[in-house]
Amino acid sequence: MSVVEETYDVIVVGAGHAGCEAALASARLGLQTIIFTVSMDSVAMMPCNPNIGGSSKGHLVREIDALGGEMGVNIDKTFIQSKMLNKSKGPAVHSLRAQADKAAYSMEMRRTLQNTDNLTLRQAEVSEIIVEDGKITGAKTFSGATYHAKAVVLCTGTYLKARCLYGDVIEHTGPNGLKAANYLTDSLKENGIEIYRFKTGTPARIDGDTIDYSKMEEQFGDERVVPFSFTTNPEDVQIDQVSCFLTYTNEKTHEIIRANLDRSPMYSGVIEGTGPRYCPSIEDKVVKFADKDRHQLFVEPEGLNTNEMYIGGMSSSLPEDVQYEMYRTVPGLENARIVRNAYAIEYDCINANQLYPTLEFKKIKGLFSGGQFNGSSGYEEAACQGLIAGVNAALEILGREQIVLDRSQSYIGVLIDDLVTKENHEPYRMMTSRAEYRLLLRQDNADMRLTPIGHEIGLISDERYNWVVTKKKLIEEEIDRVKHVNVGARAEVQELLKSYNSIPLDHGVTMADLIRRPELDYDKLAPIDTDRPDLHYEVRQQVNIEIKYEGYITRQQKQVNDFKKIESKKIPDEIDYDDVPSLRIEARQKLKALRPLNIGQASRISGVSPADISVLLVYLETFNRK
Ligand SMILES: Cc1cc2nc3c(=O)[nH]c(=O)nc-3n(C[C@H](O)[C@H](O)[C@H](O)COP(=O)(O)OP(=O)(O)OC[C@H]3O[C@@H](n4cnc5c(N)ncnc54)[C@H](O)[C@@H]3O)c2cc1C
Repeated sequence: MSVVEETYDVIVVGAGHAGCEAALASARLGLQTIIFTVSMDSVAMMPCNPNIGGSSKGHLVREIDALGGEMGVNIDKTFIQSKMLNKSKGPAVHSLRAQADKAAYSMEMRRTLQNTDNLTLRQAEVSEIIVEDGKITGAKTFSGATYHAKAVVLCTGTYLKARCLYGDVIEHTGPNGLKAANYLTDSLKENGIEIYRFKTGTPARIDGDTIDYSKMEEQFGDERVVPFSFTTNPEDVQIDQVSCFLTYTNEKTHEIIRANLDRSPMYSGVIEGTGPRYCPSIEDKVVKFADKDRHQLFVEPEGLNTNEMYIGGMSSSLPEDVQYEMYRTVPGLENARIVRNAYAIEYDCINANQLYPTLEFKKIKGLFSGGQFNGSSGYEEAACQGLIAGVNAALEILGREQIVLDRSQSYIGVLIDDLVTKENHEPYRMMTSRAEYRLLLRQDNADMRLTPIGHEIGLISDERYNWVVTKKKLIEEEIDRVKHVNVGARAEVQELLKSYNSIPLDHGVTMADLIRRPELDYDKLAPIDTDRPDLHYEVRQQVNIEIKYEGYITRQQKQVNDFKKIESKKIPDEIDYDDVPSLRIEARQKLKALRPLNIGQASRISGVSPADISVLLVYLETFNRK
């Protein structure tokens, strides 16, 4: 056994989307950090869909960027197609999605890790955590080497005791045939950590040269690409883009699937893990939505230097021969040659209720975790948790207050609060519907909401912070100006209104009144607003949205103020719920198990009723007076 012994400030286990953000944050805050992976060739690997962003996930990427994380910058350098989704709907659900060149994405992130001071990369399997008196002191690798540290961040993704299944084939590997990590789970259990078994799945990769694209609908990227990162110059992302293609399953596909369900490990019961409801396999879709005669499939390139095409919407764990049969019923795939089989993967992860909203374990001080290991699903969900866990591990060591983002500040706050407060018995995927204050949590204003926090932490430069402060001021001034600019019914005004089929004026209005008209917006009114200052695109965009949705925004802001009131009602650590009279048994059990930080979090625990909250509030009155 190796006698290697090294000391760092922070150990990050995993170089996936969570681990990379965690390690970069901790190293950029000046801490000696080591990041482990079972394979150096899988840094920031995308084992499933070849895209970053999409509905609500685009919001997460923007928030990561606004806080000083890396994912947005990395995809701006390696995307091959980009699209703003939901443009026909309100700004709350506008969401950027970029197709990535997977190999380039991984290489670029590896380059960034390698060029970061204070950061050491290491290929080795971590097999044990070292805990002394309830506090983490390091970790051991399978080779027997010992690494001492003041904090450890677990970001093991889909690798712990992983096994991949299709038909009756079972491979005890991680994704893409990489080595599974088979020892760490036992060490976690020995330290009292509750483990869950989850699963997810991926579709086959088809050789693009065997696809007949003429039978599919070509999907183009946006003409003008909007970058993910607030630091990326928009001119640098106006590239030649590749296309994706839309096709559908049909009744023939569904027949083959129904005829072979007994050979699917998901339906034969071989698979033990619980899968993501919102990323169903094609088997699940055919069984659960039997009335549908076809399901959409997006055929997406995996990169510029590979012939592999990803068949989005058709993940499966059916046997290889059935996979050939079913894919070849799809228009355009009649002669498909499979490069990689579809498969399901099972892996160990944790019940995230064992974590504080800082992503630190309640039972083990200095042990943090992020990503799929916390029970979420998705690159973006993983990356944002990794960032928060890495930042808090660093702040803990620096003796500074850890950060908790609440549900009114960010999608990240919603995600983490849901994971650590609610019961999640399946992989958690972010959706806009999960964010009650989504009109305020738009992707376009992520910097205004979070960059000051990133600056406070130390991940955002003064220059970047100062621009956001200036931007806020320019927006407020311009909103005030357009609310006080009077527009009369003069000829060029009427002309412009006519050109947009907007009702002509019969009396004076303010510029803001015109902006509020659905067929008009701030930019369209430039010709009749001669005194308007020359403002940056981002400022103009905010002025337009703040004016157009003012009523809704004001109403939602009021809801947020009410939310913050109960969120600020702290629950003292030392409270003994057995002393709280007339609490219902279920609520007492749940509160004792989860130990919420404040009344707001307590009110979101399933099984804790509003009546229980009133009882608790009364009890806290007397308790705090003691
Ligand atoms: C087959 C498959 C299908 C998927 N399908 C979907 C989907 O449909 N929708 C969706 O949203 N997401 C899907 N995902 C999930 C997506 O890949 C993950 O969400 C994302 O990669 C998680 O990021 P992560 O950083 O948490 O972990 P990962 O990207 O899995 O990275 C984990 C890292 O930890 C390292 N590691 C693990 N254990 C150890 C150890 N003991 N010692 C050292 N290093 C270790 C690994 O080497 C790796 O670097 C799928 C994943 C797979 C594998």
